[in-house]
This record gives sequence, C-alpha cells and structure tokens, in this order.
Amino acid sequence: MNPIRYISTRGVQTPLTFKDAVMTGLARDGGLLIPDRIPNVADQLEDWKDLDYPDLAFEIIRLFSDDIPEARLRALISAAYSTFTHPEVAPVRKVGDRHILELFHGPTLAFKDIALQFLGRLFGEILAERDGRLNILAATSGDTGSAAICGVRGQERIHIFVMHPHERVSPLQERQMTSILDANVFNLAVKGSFDDCQLIMKTLFSDLPFKDAHALGTVNSVNWARVLSQIVYYFYAAFRVAEATGADQVQFAVPTGNFGDILAGWYAKQMGLPIRRLILATNENDILARFFNTGIYAKGPVVATVNPSMDIQIASNFERWLYYKVGADPKAVSRRMTQFAMEGRMEIPRDAKGRVDLEIVAGASDTNHTLATIRRYHGKHAYLLDPHTAAGVFVADQFNELDDPMICLATAHPAKFSEAIEEATDQAELARHPLLDALENAPTRCEVIDNSAESVKTYLAARAR
Ligand SMILES: *Cc1c(COP(=O)(O)O)cnc(C)c1O
Repeated sequence: MNPIRYISTRGVQTPLTFKDAVMTGLARDGGLLIPDRIPNVADQLEDWKDLDYPDLAFEIIRLFSDDIPEARLRALISAAYSTFTHPEVAPVRKVGDRHILELFHGPTLAFKDIALQFLGRLFGEILAERDGRLNILAATSGDTGSAAICGVRGQERIHIFVMHPHERVSPLQERQMTSILDANVFNLAVKGSFDDCQLIMKTLFSDLPFKDAHALGTVNSVNWARVLSQIVYYFYAAFRVAEATGADQVQFAVPTGNFGDILAGWYAKQMGLPIRRLILATNENDILARFFNTGIYAKGPVVATVNPSMDIQIASNFERWLYYKVGADPKAVSRRMTQFAMEGRMEIPRDAKGRVDLEIVAGASDTNHTLATIRRYHGKHAYLLDPHTAAGVFVADQFNELDDPMICLATAHPAKFSEAIEEATDQAELARHPLLDALENAPTRCEVIDNSAESVKTYLAARAR
C-alpha cells in the first residue's frame, strides 16, 4: 500500500508525511491537514475488541503514522498512557441508563491529556531524531493549556507559549497552567476572548517567514495528531459497551467546542466502527448546534458560561469535516471559509427532508439545564458530572428516540469546575481532587499582554528556543 500522506483542506500544500504533518500543524495554505485516505478497519474489529488501551492505540495510530518505527510508536504510547491513574486509561461507567466514558484520569484531569501526553512525547521523539527545536504557540479556553504544558514541560528542545483569555478562564484552570514553573513554559493572559487568542494564532501561523524563523508548532486540535489519538477512545468505549450490552451499534454524545473531539468520533465511524450517530452538544455558544439544525454557519458573540472550554464560536476543526461534506473539493472549502471570514456567515444545502447531516445531530444546553443535569445525576445516581459532561448528557436526553446504547463523553473531572458543582448541588467541597488541592498556594508565573498579534510576536521572538 502507498504510504499515507497529509493533504490540506485548501488543496495547495504539498502532501506531507505524518511526522511533517505533526510538526507543521496548520497547513501552509491556511487549511487543515487531513490524511489522504481513511483506512477501513471493519474486518479488524473482532481482533481488536479485547485489546487494552495502549495496544488498541498502537493499532489505530500506526495506520496513520507509517513513518514512525513500530517499536518506537509502542514505546511512546505506553509512556503516554502510563501517566494515567486509572488502569483502564479511559474506563466506561454505567450511570443510570447512560454509559459515561471517563476521559479525565490524566495528569491535568481533562480529556485533552489523552492527546497531549502522546503529542508531547511525539514532538520530543521527532525533534531528537532531527536535532531540531520547536516553539509551540497555543491558544486555550482553559483545559488545553495545562494539558499541553504538562505534555512538554521540561523538554529541552521545546519552548511553549500558551495564550489564555485574561480573566475568562476559571481561577483553578489558570493556576493549573501558571503554577508550572519550568523554564520552557511561558503563560500569556491576552486581554480579549478565546476567539481573539485563536485569531492571533492564525495570524502568526500565516506569517510564514515568522513561522519558519521560529520553528512554530501547534498543540491545538488543528494538529492532526490530537484528533488521531482521540479516535482511539471511541473504539475502546464502543467495545466495552458492546461487551456489556450485546448491542451491535452505539451512539456518542460529545460536549463540543472546537469540534476536535467529535471529529475524532466521526473518523472512527468512517473507519468502520458501528456508530449509529454522534450527538453534538454546545452551550449558549451554539454556532455548531445552529449549523447542524439549519445549514447556516453564522458567527455570534461569545458569552462566558459554566463550561468555559466550550465558549467558542469559530470551531477550528469544522473545516476538516466541511471538506468531506462538500465532496472533498478544496476549492469549495476555500470559497466557503473565505466567505465566512469576510461575512461571518456561510451555508450548506440541506437534503430533501431538510436535514443537514445524517451522522451528526446537535443541540444546546444552557446554564440552567446544565446545572439541573448535574443536580439530577448527583441526587439520583450519586455521580458528579462536570459542567461540560453535563451539557452533553442533557443534549443526549433530547435525542432519546433510538434504542442503541448512549455513551456520553466525560471530558473533565468535576473538581476542575467546583463552583458550578456547588451552584448545582448547594453543597460546597463536594468535588475535590488532591492534585487540585495541592495548587492552592502554589507560586505562579504569567504575563498579561495586549490583544494584538504584534505584542505576542514581539514577546515570542524575544524568548524563542
Ligand atoms: C476542550 C474541551 C471540550 C471541547 O472539546 P473540543 O475538541 O474543542 O470540541 C469539552 N470539554 C472539556 C472539559 C474540554 O476541555
């Protein structure tokens, strides 16, 4: 078989190997990198269903990374998931009639550790082999930052610059990032929104001379390795639930921000995993929910909510999905993304029955519904949902008409969002975690910076590796 190559959704970038795609992040033509084919593994499911998490991760990731020697890949995967405190890495718990896929047993207690513990090590491996250096620029609405920092802290060849919206991430999320004092870690509080941070990132990455001069790389979910490593837990969870229930297909409910997580589920489905459908959940920042119900992708204002990692209006990974949706036509993608950039709006046609898509359905959960869902699960099942997970569970309940088991992705440990838990349950101190308690009086380091690409550029240039 031909080696797998990575092409851009905008069609201009020369195809890249896996390693180059990982190091490049965003394609040089402004598009996103995607594999030039999606392997079908329907015939392998039977052989894979009893594998443990690292072995399953190896089987899936290697299909997309044929330029990493297998023994090295195994070692990277095994090191990445040995940092998880649960022996299963991503256990599935039956809570009421839902299956909760707990993705928060990594070092920063959010699902992003699954991708970033792997990606951090992958960067280290590639840089050592190439005797290279890397300056990572990241934008975070909260959880990516600490997970990315944790994935690369202390690495000699990497400096990491993490932008978060000043005073718009929870105090705890902020402390999780800024309390990591390794010399290669730089935290920037940008006086703007998360979308502003993403825009600054796009601006710096599209300045190709700057990007090249400083070997800029990304850990945001525009990086293919992130989406790739997240495909694994869809398989893992579907196998566990099939085993427990005898069902031959499942549904997933996914709390969504940048569309990275649910896109991994979409790839799993294209690979032949029997997923009946994916249920996309947003909070009040509901551009994606509106899109999947109307076909109109129109930007709205960003509002701050109880689930800040979903406070996103421009979902960077949406472009990957759009590429397939418009018939793998890079010109059609470029046209629509340009229109969206200029007018804040674009549209895709609906089918004869008025449907936008058959694989993804979507809804939104506002603060009241999210808090009520937390309260209900705590009261009825003595189980604490974090507010992101709760939004997914609430929207899953709106799509109750099919019998296939419903797997709800639990994307963060509830203790990361203890204010919301307290508001929902009227009980203080219910959601605690020793890792977070230990941060209470930890020293921190962070720079407040103007909301402009120029300021970030100057800061980075002065401190780049
Ligand atoms: C990042 C994050 C999300 C959203 O994931 P996307 O891949 O951006 O859609 C949801 N919940 C939590 C806790 C997160 O950290």
